[in-house]
Amino acid sequence: MPDNPTTKHARIRSLEEYHEAYRRSVETPEQFWAEVAEPFTWRRKWTKVLDSDMAAGRNEWFQGARLNITENCLDRHLATRANKLAIIYEPNDPKTRHLRLTYRELHQEVCKFANVLHNNGVEKGDRVCIYMPMIPQLAIAVLACARIGAIHSVIFAGFSATAIADRVNDAQATVVLTADGLNRGAKQIPVKRVVDEALETCPSVRRVIVVEHLGWPVQMKEGRDVWYHEEAEDVPKTCPAEEMDAEDPLFILYTSGSTGKPKGVVHSTAGYMVWADYTFRNVFQIEENDIYWCTADIGWVTGHSYLLYGPLLAGSTSLMFEGIPTYPDAGRFWEVIDKHSVSIFYTAPTAIRSLMAAPLDNVLSYSLDSLRVLGSVGEPINEEAWYWYYQHVGKERCPVVDTWWQTETGGIMISAMAGITPSKPTHAGLPMPGVQPVLLTQEGKEIEGNNEEGYLAIKHSWPGIIRTTYGDHERAVQTYFAPYKGYYFTGDGARRDENGLYRIIGRVDDVINVSGHRFGTAEIENAINQNQNVVESAVVGYPHDVKGQGIYAYVICSPEAANKDKAHIEASIIETIVAEIGKIAKPDKIQIVSGLPKTRSGKIMRRILRKVAEGEISSLGDTTTLLDPAVVDEIIEGRK
Ligand code: ATP
Ligand code: MG
Repeated sequence: MPDNPTTKHARIRSLEEYHEAYRRSVETPEQFWAEVAEPFTWRRKWTKVLDSDMAAGRNEWFQGARLNITENCLDRHLATRANKLAIIYEPNDPKTRHLRLTYRELHQEVCKFANVLHNNGVEKGDRVCIYMPMIPQLAIAVLACARIGAIHSVIFAGFSATAIADRVNDAQATVVLTADGLNRGAKQIPVKRVVDEALETCPSVRRVIVVEHLGWPVQMKEGRDVWYHEEAEDVPKTCPAEEMDAEDPLFILYTSGSTGKPKGVVHSTAGYMVWADYTFRNVFQIEENDIYWCTADIGWVTGHSYLLYGPLLAGSTSLMFEGIPTYPDAGRFWEVIDKHSVSIFYTAPTAIRSLMAAPLDNVLSYSLDSLRVLGSVGEPINEEAWYWYYQHVGKERCPVVDTWWQTETGGIMISAMAGITPSKPTHAGLPMPGVQPVLLTQEGKEIEGNNEEGYLAIKHSWPGIIRTTYGDHERAVQTYFAPYKGYYFTGDGARRDENGLYRIIGRVDDVINVSGHRFGTAEIENAINQNQNVVESAVVGYPHDVKGQGIYAYVICSPEAANKDKAHIEASIIETIVAEIGKIAKPDKIQIVSGLPKTRSGKIMRRILRKVAEGEISSLGDTTTLLDPAVVDEIIEGRK
């Protein structure tokens, strides 16, 4: 019996193997996933692999199985990888010492934290909100919840008190885990104070456990707040793992809110585990000695699946970074890669675009020899950013995997597998085994054949599919399963090229219809970004008397373009678009801005830009997840 999922079923090593795995995953999905799931540690095996009713939004995987995900992330590796590094922590300030945790040490720390949770009354099924900096204790806290069967809900430690309160109340959390403060670049933020403010309106919370990080004095509320280090003093270094049902919820994660009120996406235990592990190994083509770095915060789904669970399930070494890409300078990412010999690097287009704007020396002065695979996630990566990443970071040696997926999908859905399946700029590529994408017309008819465009939906259940939205299953049904009966609806538009590779062209709600021609935002932005004056752009539609919708482009210019004449820049942008797409895509309005409204995970909130373009400034909607609300005021002021 193999002791972990590096069996032939779980790892694809050639294009032929990909096609073969894909075929089997479609023809006999239950058998396929049973084989992939076999080598994990199960307390009890499943009685049925899949029970699914897509129309009702009901998806149960590995029915009847019993397990604990942390036994698979930690205990399982102790026999062969006890002294292997599980986590490398790189602090915000490069002058502060980094920290390493082996699998044995991580196991102990998780057990200790789990015992502290237990001692503070946390039980299986309780919701625990975690609002912590990107420090090892965050990873440990998340796993500790999973160890005892508590449902974790990680809230990015940059959200406001209101955003925390909304999430805590929605989940009816009883316990909050936090820290005294956090470092982010040159800033220090009193995290505990934000929590205190939030909890004024959260009656469900009876305990706050505070991790010491900056050594700051904080107000401790009598009877509610305790210090982690005091609680952890005498607790045992072992903690039995709670036996969970395959479908017991593992976590709630609120989506970033690019399109509206955040939804509490719920993932369950077994299916999520199998999916995170399978996609992680295959997309990144992970090897035993890789040093893997995902720059996402654990507060996003990418941090859940590909910083924490995926890498640990695979027994890999995962780097965790507390800081930001531009501190102390725009070379920080590259410095960290050289320092720790990172071989696989996974980041977001927004980070790449911001680093592209800095002088090239910032990247050229590092060797980056250790790199083997590059990944991108979160938004469509435009061509210019793709090539910059490929050339200057990957030195034309490292395949780029552009991974399309969503909080709701639990893991990567469409992406190249590094060096195995085709990687084409601006295209996510081929679907993972188990994923059956379709393009639908607005009426819900499947569009056959290649060179076609439509609404992206998924036809069959996959192990990582969203189980529900917390406390409101009907919302999940209405959002994902009711729009097109029998399908999971993604909300994104896509194009299938002549070889069947998928390109995400933007969100369906953002599609712009100019005189009957439909454009995805990604297509037009991709063209605008080709212009040498442009660093980043966002386009939206607005009502236009003649064309139905006009195109409004918001553009951030490069530092070199600062002295140029605005009219000249606009003319040059229009020229680029006409050359790249055609006259029909010519923007009606171009506004040069210094920043774009982004979610805290770095995604452009086109919803707000659309309101501004439409002149509906009084009804901007929920802006609690905005990174920098000030940019909105600037944009409103400069409105055309
Ligand atoms: P909300 O659903 O609350 O509006 P969100 O959709 O931004 O928030 P996520 O689940 O983090 O929250 O993001 C998923 C979305 O991000 C996808 O639907 C898609 O629009 C975009 N996306 C992610 N990765 C890619 C990619 N590689 N290429 C293109 N788009 C991507
Ligand atoms: Mg979404």
